[in-house]
Amino acid sequence: MFERLQERDQRLRVVQRPSWWARLWHGWGGLSWPFVVLTVRDDQTIIRHELRHQFQWMLLGPLFPVVYLLCGLWARLRGKSFYRDNLLEVDARKHQDDV
Ligand SMILES: [Zn+2]
Repeated sequence: MFERLQERDQRLRVVQRPSWWARLWHGWGGLSWPFVVLTVRDDQTIIRHELRHQFQWMLLGPLFPVVYLLCGLWARLRGKSFYRDNLLEVDARKHQDDV
């Protein structure tokens, strides 16, 4: 998957790190920062999820972390999970299965 993504988009650069790096990420599928996606597995679902977060970053710009935090707090105020019920996570999960 990584290689196919890189072939499709020459702006994409795949960097592999040793397994100690993956162990630091135990329990997490990935993380998105502007123009950077970190993941420990070559898993299409995780990559699509993180790419949706990239889209959210592009849409919200520097407000992304603030909106993410507010959406998580809003979920907690309703007695739900900061992560699972965060509207940005719900949106990313909706798009992770798109093929
Ligand atoms: Zn997510």
